[in-house]
Order: sequence, then C-alpha cells, then structure tokens
Amino acid sequence: MSSSVHGFTVTPSASPRPEAERTEILRHLNFGKEFTDHMAGATWSKEQGWHNRRVEAYGPLQLEPASAVLHYAQEIFEGLKAYRWQDGSVWLFRPEQNAERFQRSAARIALPELSVEDFLGSIEALLSVDGAWVPGADESSLYLRPFMFASEAFLGVRPAAVVEYLLISGPVGPYFPGGVKPVSIWVAQGFHRAGPGGTGAAKFGGNYAASLLPQQQAFERGCQQVLFTDAATGMYLEELGGMNIFVVRKDGTLETPRLTGTILEGITRESVITLLEEDSVKIVEKNISLAEVRDGVESGDIAEVFACGTAAVVTPIGRFASPDFDVTVGDGTAGEVTLNIRKRLTDIQYGRAEDPYGWMRRVEASS
Ligand SMILES: *Cc1c(COP(=O)(O)O)cnc(C)c1O
Repeated sequence: MSSSVHGFTVTPSASPRPEAERTEILRHLNFGKEFTDHMAGATWSKEQGWHNRRVEAYGPLQLEPASAVLHYAQEIFEGLKAYRWQDGSVWLFRPEQNAERFQRSAARIALPELSVEDFLGSIEALLSVDGAWVPGADESSLYLRPFMFASEAFLGVRPAAVVEYLLISGPVGPYFPGGVKPVSIWVAQGFHRAGPGGTGAAKFGGNYAASLLPQQQAFERGCQQVLFTDAATGMYLEELGGMNIFVVRKDGTLETPRLTGTILEGITRESVITLLEEDSVKIVEKNISLAEVRDGVESGDIAEVFACGTAAVVTPIGRFASPDFDVTVGDGTAGEVTLNIRKRLTDIQYGRAEDPYGWMRRVEASS
C-alpha cells in the first residue's frame, strides 16, 4: 500500500530487514557499507521536468550501458547526517545549505536544479519509512547521500535530457572509534584537484576521481589524507580531498584559505567560522602559503591545524609531509582549540547544547 509524503509516493519494501537484523547492524557500524531498506528518487526530463517522486525498496538500478553518466561523468552529490537526540527525536543539521549547494553544483555541471522543497521532502519521505535506521549510540548518525546523474542513453556530448535524482542512506558510527586521533597529511605533488574556472566549488564526482591517485600516493607515504595546493602557482593551500582546512596560531588567531572558486564551500567550515566569531576569536580568510605553514609549524607559531567536513566533523592534523619537509604540529596530539570546536559543533548536532542559530531541523522519523 502506498502513501504520499511531501509529494513522494512511498511504497514500502516487500522485504525490509527484520528488526533483530537491523539491531545487529546498528551495533557494529562502519562507514559506507550498510544501507537502509529504502531509497528516495525523482526523474527529470526536458519535456516533463521533475516527476515520479518516489520512495521504494533499496536495490540495483536498471541503467542502459549508453547512459551518459557512465561516459561523461555528469554527476553531483551531497552528504549530510540525521542525528538521534537523547529523547529519541531525529534532526538534520542545516539541510537547506546542502539543498542550495546541490543547486549550485547542478548549475555548474549542467544538470537541472532540484527545488529545496524536493530535496528536503525526499529526506523526510525516506525517514518516514527508514527512521528506525537512525542509530542512537554516541557520535553515530544516519549518513544521507543525495545524488543526481545523467541517465539518458545518448553518446552525443551535451547536457542529458533525462536525469535521475536519488537519495540513499546508511547508519555510520563514530569516525574515530578509539577517540579523536590526529591524521598525517601528504602534500600532493604535481596534481591539483581543481583549477580556475574548473569544477572545484561543485560537489562533483569527477573532483573525487581526480583526487584518488594523489590520495593513493599519500597512503604509500604513510599519510591518511592528501592536501592540495592551488593549480595556478602550487604555493597556496586549498583543501584536502574532501575536507576544508584551518590553521591555529599560537596567539589564538585562526586562518583558513579564502574561497576562490576552486575550493568546496564546506558547511562545516562556515559553521566553524560562525561559532568562533561568536567567541570573538579572530578568523582570517586569506591565501595561506605552504611555506608559511611549514615555517610556522617548525617555529611553533602555528600551534594546531585541523580539517573539517560532515563525515569526520573536525579532524586534528598532526603532521605535514612532502618530498621537501616532514613536520609535526605541536606535540603531534589533538590540540585544545581543535577539540573545543569539535565539541561545540557536535553538542549542537546531538541536542546537548543550545542552538542559537536555528541550525537544527526536526524531522518526523518512523520507529
Ligand atoms: C563535502 C566536501 C567538503 C566538506 O563540506 P561539508 O559541507 O562541511 O561537509 C570539503 N571539501 C570537499 C572537496 C568536499 O567534497
């Protein structure tokens, strides 16, 4: 039997996992491996616009081999989380920001815009059947992955006339199960993730494809993450493969690369800036050179460095390595400013602290 939630026709799965199995999965969480019983979606065509808004059983797609996305990578995505508060209620963190960024990403990749209403509606419709998949354990959440791709079977090179929007989700545990640990960063050599006029500011799958080889080289050097510098000069920090970066000076001033059009405008980045400005912390958005970070870390003038993004929230960076240098930040452990801002954010997300900015949005979730 179908029902309708925010214009999405919800058809419950004929074979949802039994409660015991779900409970078992929620007890052993890792990232990106488990998905809930349903997915939401909508189809766009040039003639009809957005239609076929639906929630259905999670499962394999039928896709023609000629589908344009498989050839020309016309695909964008978002990432956000649903948090379960102590009282059992389920909340999203600034989802309108993700919806608006999804529209900006779509515009850059010549995909159709999905309305903010449909973006939020798809999440609410999915949670109306999969709400029980939002875990309740400390620092866990339901990761939501909206994405859109060119499904038209056509090998000519032009924006697709048929497009799919889908939303899948999966429960995730704490990013640092054993407590927050600093990561090591490798400075990408000869590779850039984005250039002027390119796609760096869009949450576009191709940006990630371009980051995989340098990321692999970082792994080979014993580093967990790769840092990209600007393509024009190679002198200035931009961001990691999927996280923005902040530097903490000894005097308490924070610095982060200014948005130049080649950096992804992280919602976590913007939230960190807002929270710290409230504390009257001085935050400077500017070009930060690799040389000044190396020197500052060596002299101790830079006390902490951290990365931020939805998946890991705030991640301390303990070490920078490149062919020319290998420096440890502070004593290599997580710094106080980093841990503080991480706590400020997660306390708001999990309802443990006031939400003075109205960032949290409650959703009706099935139980
Ligand atoms: C998603 C993403 C981020 C972080 O953005 P949030 O909105 O904070 O999750 C940073 N850099 C890149 C390249 C990203 O794709």
